[in-house]
Amino acid sequence: MQNDNLWAPWRIGYLQSLEKEPPIPAKEMEEGCFLCRYWNDPAHDAENLVLWRTSRALVLMNRFPYTGGHLLIAPADHVADLHGLGPATLLEMILLARDAQTALTEAIAPQGFNLGINIRRCAGAGLPGHVHLHVVPRWDGDTNFMTTVSHVRVISQALEELFGQLAEISRKHNLPTVPE
Ligand SMILES: [Zn+2]
Repeated sequence: MQNDNLWAPWRIGYLQSLEKEPPIPAKEMEEGCFLCRYWNDPAHDAENLVLWRTSRALVLMNRFPYTGGHLLIAPADHVADLHGLGPATLLEMILLARDAQTALTEAIAPQGFNLGINIRRCAGAGLPGHVHLHVVPRWDGDTNFMTTVSHVRVISQALEELFGQLAEISRKHNLPTVPE
């Protein structure tokens, strides 16, 4: 809770409304690591809100976002921290973060971004076994839809709508631009 406080004070009410569910709800974890599951299931990328996949990583929308447009960049490898990744993957994650910033800027015009990696549980990692980079759009005062929308189904619809928007922007600009 302390990390959420530091990073996203407006999220407290949302978290409380979930009645102390873990950061990654049980249904996402019941078949093991969902990032590995998504990686191995390219046929369901749209359903899983996987925006991009390269030879080394996935970029997907966080279904339990801090704010609208919260993306996750996950390497294909199920490793707990950056020491488990090679230089090509590390570079690709940052290039994908840059492209994510491009797409989000066109879609929802954030005024800033937080890029962050929570390594291990004490640092707030909801899925400590599989390292991932958060790309979180920010606005002055963060008065975006997450502050007013509390119904989970409505959030889910908003996520799918934004996913469609980001997919269209990606086609238009040939994103991601990472070298294969
Ligand atoms: Zn995994």
